[in-house]
Amino acid sequence: MASAIVRLKPGREKSVRRRHPWIFSGAIAEVEGAPSPGDVVEVHSAQGEFLARGYYNPRSQITVRVLTWDEQERIDATFWQKRLERALARRETLAQSGDTTAYRLVFAESDGLPGLIVDRYGDWLVLQSLALGIEPWKELLAELLLSLTEAKGVYERSDVDVRTHEGLPPRVGLLKGELPPEELVVYENGLAFYVDLFAGQKTGLYLDQRENRAKVALYCRDAEVLDVFSYVGGFALYAAREGARRIVEVDSSREALRAAERNMELNGFSPRDDEYLEGDAFRILRTLRDQARQFDVVILDPPKFAFSRAQVQSATRGYKDINMLGMRLVRPGGVLCTFSCSGLVSMDLFQKVLFGASVDVGREVRVLEYLHQARDHPLLLSFPEGAYLKGFICRVE
Ligand code: SAH
Repeated sequence: MASAIVRLKPGREKSVRRRHPWIFSGAIAEVEGAPSPGDVVEVHSAQGEFLARGYYNPRSQITVRVLTWDEQERIDATFWQKRLERALARRETLAQSGDTTAYRLVFAESDGLPGLIVDRYGDWLVLQSLALGIEPWKELLAELLLSLTEAKGVYERSDVDVRTHEGLPPRVGLLKGELPPEELVVYENGLAFYVDLFAGQKTGLYLDQRENRAKVALYCRDAEVLDVFSYVGGFALYAAREGARRIVEVDSSREALRAAERNMELNGFSPRDDEYLEGDAFRILRTLRDQARQFDVVILDPPKFAFSRAQVQSATRGYKDINMLGMRLVRPGGVLCTFSCSGLVSMDLFQKVLFGASVDVGREVRVLEYLHQARDHPLLLSFPEGAYLKGFICRVE
């Protein structure tokens, strides 16, 4: 049976030819052949040339997500197997490192697998489907993943809000193999972390900060460290290993702080004279400021503030506020490590926000290092939207 065809408006084929994987509803002239949502369709130019093949979802603003630009390439089990093999090959050095057992195996569009996230946690894999087009392939993907990685099980954590843009409800549960244990221990650069694949945030851990944690740790020797938005203490563990004198962790999640404390014990760093402060970071930082507390290193790793263009302005206000508070808590000559994981807030804009914050608090700030998401979350140049995490390590005088 002939595939359905999505025909673009004249002139709208340019970005497809440049291998951008998203086709927005506004670029489409007509759809021929009545495809069902989630089906694989062909994308043709206004002149009728084949451009690409991808999955179709009329409910989403991103109506087609491109899987291939090669007319000969069919979307079948072999296709998925080849794409997964390539994604795994890109992580070969990580897989062989031995001291890291938790990392991202598949980073969606950036790995040529739109809407699909797969994270490895030791012997278990966590799959997240962010597009309707992935749904019919999940079983097959889980099967392929098990055979390619020799993992024990694939657990699904598709409990994310972005699925509503695709008309999808949240879904969690075992896809294939064995259920993961209630509590799993994984390693990151030799540090042990408890991870709860059933209820942890994201797929369990924030894997994108792995390399940045190691970089930030180098400033933490003998330091008093404030780790804000600590989650289960990723930055704090690295800081403790590096010899931080005292660490204050701040998070709104009680479970995260409890896990952070247990992670310290798990690594043999306890007892320590650390503090775990539960609550809203903006409020807690104001309290610390009122108490005239000072730190050698302040880490700010807030959740995403901007989910749409309309939210960018209020997000920048949020970033400015939290960074003003953070800068004030840095002892003169100390270090601020500050992050934004809002893709819509560019590095450039974030730098301007930091400048504004530094002016308002009257501190002179020098950028020492620019930071990005870890290498298992690569940026594909034809898909700049894949770059979302940015950070600065700054000296604050
Ligand atoms: N730094 C962490 C990841 C941080 S993710 C790491 O390296 O793993 C963001 C964290 O902010 C989450 O743990 C979330 O519980 C917490 N959070 C969200 N809103 C918050 C708020 N208003 N105040 C304090 N913590 C908040």
